[in-house]
Amino acid sequence: MMNVRKKIWPKTIADGLSMFFILTIIPLIYWFELWVVLPNLYEPGAVAYMIHFVIGNFIMINIVGNLTYTILIDTSTRPLIMSISKAKAKEGWRFCASCEAVSPPRSWHCQTCGVCILKRDHHCIFTGCCIGHFNHRYFLMFVFYLFLATAYAFYYNNKFIWSRISFEFPLSIIKIIFPLAIFVFGFDDSWDQFYLMLYIVSVVGMCFTGALLVYHLLLVFSGHVAHEKDKKINKYDMGWKQNIKEALGEKWYIVWLFPYIKSDLLHNGLNWNVSPLWKDSAKNR
Ligand SMILES: [Zn+2]
Ligand SMILES: [Zn+2]
Repeated sequence: MMNVRKKIWPKTIADGLSMFFILTIIPLIYWFELWVVLPNLYEPGAVAYMIHFVIGNFIMINIVGNLTYTILIDTSTRPLIMSISKAKAKEGWRFCASCEAVSPPRSWHCQTCGVCILKRDHHCIFTGCCIGHFNHRYFLMFVFYLFLATAYAFYYNNKFIWSRISFEFPLSIIKIIFPLAIFVFGFDDSWDQFYLMLYIVSVVGMCFTGALLVYHLLLVFSGHVAHEKDKKINKYDMGWKQNIKEALGEKWYIVWLFPYIKSDLLHNGLNWNVSPLWKDSAKNR
């Protein structure tokens, strides 16, 4: 049973602007790809058109679904406060001065969220919340589908955009580098300049989400959250197969397909198994 986070409004200006950006740009690029680029490249109703239309919507459902779960799921220690107070004496727990409560291993306090987060990875400004134990899967799939979408779009956008825009030096270079400024300040308020802006945003998005995806998948494979990696805490590395299962849940092999597939996590977020390899190395020290 998932706990729903109640205060989902952004808590800082950075969070607010970043959330506003993705909540605007995702629908805009979706519209651009399926209602502008696609009908321009393929005859509406043709088989190729239908296939891309279905794939495009499938990707969009995954983006929206995973984003929604990432934002809504409460992964803080707050809903578990009852079981936490019973577990006081356990090893590896610490007292959080800000929460004025004990916190389980792998949890960490977030200054922005103002609460301790279970298996805290990081605070994500684009979703305005922390990524931790219960929304980790949805965050990973959100980034994965964003990358898939922008890479898929990149191939077709190139066919579309370069068939419309002729290259004139040096104006074209300026238009490519400053697409938003040129459009907003009215130097060129044509549809083509607006499309070029969306094209550039999706190229930047592809590079950014690609790097983010590699970084986070490597963390998952090695059984770390971000700060455990920095501090070289290898305590929870169970081998890459088990590590994937720990992050994605029991149905790890199918969560990739749909955010609405239920996949129970192996841990309750409070108690963690320590890697046998780690125990041995600690004894030998
Ligand atoms: Zn705390
Ligand atoms: Zn946070």
